Amino acid sequence: MQADADTTAYETSVPECVPSICDAVTRTLDGVDLRRLAEQVPTPFYAYSVQAIRTRIASLQNAFRGLDVRICYAVKANSNLAILQLIAQHGVGADIVSHGEMQRSLKAGIPAERIVFSGVGKTADEIDTALVAGVWRFNVESADELHLLQRVAQSRGVCARAAVRINPDVDARTHAKISTGKAENKFGVSIDEARRWFAESASLDHVQLDGLHAHIGSQILDLEPFRTALQRVEAFRRELVEAGHPVASVDIGGGLGVVYRRGIDTPVDIADYASLVRETFAGFKGTLAVEPGRWLVAEAGVLVTRAIRVKQGADRHFLVVDAAMNDLLRPSLYEAWHEIVPLHGRDEANVAYDVVGPVCETGDTFAQRRVMPRCEAGDVLMIEGAGAYGASMGSTYNSRPLPPEVLLDDGRYAIIRRRQTLAEMMAGEQFPQAWHDT
Ligand SMILES: *Cc1c(COP(=O)(O)O)cnc(C)c1O
Repeated sequence: MQADADTTAYETSVPECVPSICDAVTRTLDGVDLRRLAEQVPTPFYAYSVQAIRTRIASLQNAFRGLDVRICYAVKANSNLAILQLIAQHGVGADIVSHGEMQRSLKAGIPAERIVFSGVGKTADEIDTALVAGVWRFNVESADELHLLQRVAQSRGVCARAAVRINPDVDARTHAKISTGKAENKFGVSIDEARRWFAESASLDHVQLDGLHAHIGSQILDLEPFRTALQRVEAFRRELVEAGHPVASVDIGGGLGVVYRRGIDTPVDIADYASLVRETFAGFKGTLAVEPGRWLVAEAGVLVTRAIRVKQGADRHFLVVDAAMNDLLRPSLYEAWHEIVPLHGRDEANVAYDVVGPVCETGDTFAQRRVMPRCEAGDVLMIEGAGAYGASMGSTYNSRPLPPEVLLDDGRYAIIRRRQTLAEMMAGEQFPQAWHDT
């Protein structure tokens, strides 16, 4: 093979031996034929397997059996009400980062006492409504927020439960944009600062500061960063206890990685992860919390799209599909890999395609020089690994309405979000009715 840049730039096709979430022969996901579904639901749309999500929840619950652990699903991964309801039905709580996520979680039936509130930018109003709702605890990320929590709780005459989010300064060895546990990231505070908070905690009479929290990043495929971070958290917890500050809860965050690239990504074994947690916190008698988002839902979802046309470029074939970066931002934002599988079922020769959407951005590219069976206009394809940070990151950029979302369960489907209408997309906008002086 010639070693020219073009050849080496080709993305290899998926190894045949590695199974897809979708049955290769029947093209079904959770018993639903995706091509037939695409005749009933207009593409592009998201489809999520109930079975796949249930399986993940059960394996996590099994792995932690016997430990006092609360699973708090990171709502931002996929915040559709029906997904949250499914989560709630299995006794899983929520990790929220905004008032909107709290409202969704409560509406879907997640009790407030199973909700933890994270995020660097909580406002006084958000803290107030969360206090009134009775969330389990606040994961506090700055001294300013800690004092705001004290003031808001005082004005309500209540005591807020709080955990300090530790930034353990660990390199999670993931994409820079989803790394959160290094000293230069905006998240959490150093152990030195946290130590001062506990020393002065008696002066905050409306805050019960008795929890620790750490979340070092996302799509982590290696146990070592977790080990280092958790050991730092546990060492600090022991130090606090010796200094007379009892710690009631330790929240170890989320971040478990999933398979995006079949045959290449090797996620952490969930049993190994649970063993690490058991060993590290063997001396801890309180409540643990874990906040997985991606791991619970990413591989359960696909984005189903249809080829609009094949365009012959100067040196490459463009496969133009009807999904775009506004529907699934990850490839543009993180250069993320998603498997793309044509569902036409024909026996075709392989072609290297740049799979692109219709949005007027060069970044609107799902894959470059991806080798897959030849496609033509009208063919249905699925983009895998789209259950997390897919629909929830969607926008209407280029005035493209938000896509439908469909739940699949044992051969049947239910629409859990219908396509946004153009009227809904423009609702709230208006021509200037009146001009006001400030
Ligand atoms: C985003 C986030 C999570 C979930 O991360 P995943 O990688 O999806 O598991 C958990 N905790 C916090 C604080 C987060 O910001």
